[in-house]
Amino acid sequence: MKRSPKRTAVIILPVALFLALVPALLEAAADPADIVSFDRRHFESRGLVRDGLDLLYEKDGRVYAVVTPEDIASLVSRGVAFTIETARLAPSAGRTASAAGGLNGAFHSAYELDTELRLLADAHPQLVRLQEIGTSLEGRPIQALKISDNPGLDEGEPAILFLGCHHAREWISVEIPLLLARHLLENYALDPEVRSLVDRGEIWIVPLVNPDGLEYSIHVYRYWRKNRRANSDGTFGVDLNRNYGYQWGYDNVGSSPVPGSAVYRGTAPFSEPETEAVRRLFLSRDFRAMVSFHSFSQLILYPWGYVDLPTGKEAELSTLAHTMSALMAAVRGAVYVPGRASAALYTTNGDTADWTFGVSGVPSFTVELPPEDTAGGGFFNAEAEIEAIFRENLPAMLYLTNYAFLSSPDGGIRPRLPGTLRRSPPRLPLIKRIDRDLPSAITMNQ
Ligand SMILES: [Zn+2]
Repeated sequence: MKRSPKRTAVIILPVALFLALVPALLEAAADPADIVSFDRRHFESRGLVRDGLDLLYEKDGRVYAVVTPEDIASLVSRGVAFTIETARLAPSAGRTASAAGGLNGAFHSAYELDTELRLLADAHPQLVRLQEIGTSLEGRPIQALKISDNPGLDEGEPAILFLGCHHAREWISVEIPLLLARHLLENYALDPEVRSLVDRGEIWIVPLVNPDGLEYSIHVYRYWRKNRRANSDGTFGVDLNRNYGYQWGYDNVGSSPVPGSAVYRGTAPFSEPETEAVRRLFLSRDFRAMVSFHSFSQLILYPWGYVDLPTGKEAELSTLAHTMSALMAAVRGAVYVPGRASAALYTTNGDTADWTFGVSGVPSFTVELPPEDTAGGGFFNAEAEIEAIFRENLPAMLYLTNYAFLSSPDGGIRPRLPGTLRRSPPRLPLIKRIDRDLPSAITMNQ
């Protein structure tokens, strides 16, 4: 996407000037891909939680959000002093504007992913079956890979599910599960750990839950988040990660009933074909764990998200999240902060992990991929980083897969540490805490 240079401006307006200046502000913010930041205290004191703002994260006491011109007008009318941050993001955004790879560079579009999955399946027919688990609103296939020995047979083995790209603009979240599939298939013959996992269970990988949204993000509006549902009020999109059926619509903070909101939950649980496809798949197999990849902010989140309370398996989920975080940090030092989803600044209802945990009790995680923040590039991961991000996630994913296949169907604990962790226990001196008293992140990317 071509970006015009943006000026950074701190805008603090007395209300008296509001009406006179709104047209100029809208002009300044005419590019819909603006990010602003404002003091966190405004977020709490001026009702912004319920405003349906497209929030990204919090850092150093400031909340970052993607805004439309209408949002800007709303912030101004509430007397919120904000800073336009978009100019600071432009250099990192530019890194992905590869002419060679088209608009999306090394990242996969829906069509490119379909081609890739077909090639993978054709190259490894003894290890993988490509299955269309549903069709998006605009008619695109939602594809799953089942990776197992004897993939054409139903051997009743335990299964694990990896999901990518519920949110359209989180392009990196397609690539990590795709690379995981490739790694398993290409290393089966060489790597005893991979072979053992593939032989013992079923590894299901759905790299792209939201193909319509991804296409829209590539070709029309890079910051698009939701699917492409035409809502009754003329707006578009349901937030697929608010459309799952466990405590769906529990309150209007964790999701929104307003169709135009970035976190609109839809008209009913599983109203969207994309979430319905995941629902059907999940209930059809003996899944023992689930990971849903998102970006960004480097977090490993586990239920509950809908309410700030621990599940009955807090100790198990926390131990798993901390272990995965340690395995990730051991690769090249990147810290993925583990924590309960609801312990961030506010709650999230209708998300994938609450539902898979709520209906099955199996370990369920939202992994927020890099970078940590917008200063690190936000949604614009450098193409050169894709492989490295995959590499730092791989040991944790293999660990969780092994854990899942050893666990009993009722989700009981039989942990076993992988060899790498036994050899050199990584230390966690830099783990930040997600805590109500000491919030270091908000997680609207999830
Ligand atoms: Zn997300």
